[in-house]
Amino acid sequence: MLSIDKSYVGSSTKTSQYASSKTLLFWRASCLEGTCLEVKDLVWRASSGCLPTKTQLHLRHVDVDTICPLCQSDRETISHCLVACSRVWPCWVCLGLGLLAPDSETFGHWLMQNLVRLDQEQKAKVFMLLWAVWRRRNEWVWQNKRGSCYGVVLLADSTLQTWIKAQDCEIAPLPYFLSPEDGRELWSKPPLGSLKINVDAASFNEASKHSFAGIARDHDGTFVEAFSVCRAGIVSPELGEALGVREALSWIKRRRWVDVVIETDSILVVQALRSNISMDSYFGCVIDDCKVLWKDLNSVSIVFVKRSANGAAHALAKASSFVAERVLVKENISSNVLDVMLQDCC
Ligand SMILES: [Zn+2]
Repeated sequence: MLSIDKSYVGSSTKTSQYASSKTLLFWRASCLEGTCLEVKDLVWRASSGCLPTKTQLHLRHVDVDTICPLCQSDRETISHCLVACSRVWPCWVCLGLGLLAPDSETFGHWLMQNLVRLDQEQKAKVFMLLWAVWRRRNEWVWQNKRGSCYGVVLLADSTLQTWIKAQDCEIAPLPYFLSPEDGRELWSKPPLGSLKINVDAASFNEASKHSFAGIARDHDGTFVEAFSVCRAGIVSPELGEALGVREALSWIKRRRWVDVVIETDSILVVQALRSNISMDSYFGCVIDDCKVLWKDLNSVSIVFVKRSANGAAHALAKASSFVAERVLVKENISSNVLDVMLQDCC
């Protein structure tokens, strides 16, 4: 699969006839200054008509259909794939820059039309979102991953922030994570005098329910308390996780705990919490609630961990399909959740 991509990229200079001289001049006018190489390359290829969408491949006699893999209803041209597709345009709306809707002209024309109205910071956001949209499209096609619009906008935003930070320091943070604390694979005890709360969510499709749960442990790894909530209806994984984090923050507030680390295995929730983008959706409302609660709390951090570091909360959420809402002490915790906690401390 990649070989198609590479050979196509390799011949991209030959196809520069697609690019109008006006477009080329525009790019030389330094509007891509302050953008990382990978993004520059993508914007250049897209504006020059060299991005390997299905229609572009078809034009080069590669045996593929031309239907957009995301919406399945239009031809996948560059303009459609990066902007006009019904599964992509909401990302641009979510970005909140009031961009002009795509017209029948080329992608390069659409981009130029919009960029002339934007400042440097806004241009960087546009370029990064193009990169994130193209990335999701490729994950959709090659890995069968169905990323949401929130995911795309948040990926673009967090990657831009990460990239900006990396310009100011010699060691670049891990890609797509905002801090070196993110991405742990194993559970670890919190520092002396602090607590760690692991949060996770689960869905029960047959019973049409969802649950979320949190487990607090101290610096020794000793169980302190837990909560679990089960509600009717199926929600998206990111919404379930966001509801869990909101519950954890309220719990910390009620208990007046300080020095707490909340861990979730939803990178989307962590990115949304650290982003200034406000989203017009129920997920966005829950994230806004979390931000308000978080601001009022003392020394509480929220980090992303891999699923493998979040096993106890996962087991508790999975075991929480019967009781609507409860706070659990050690005696109420099932043996498999206790087992996971024991393994975490080994
Ligand atoms: Zn489409």
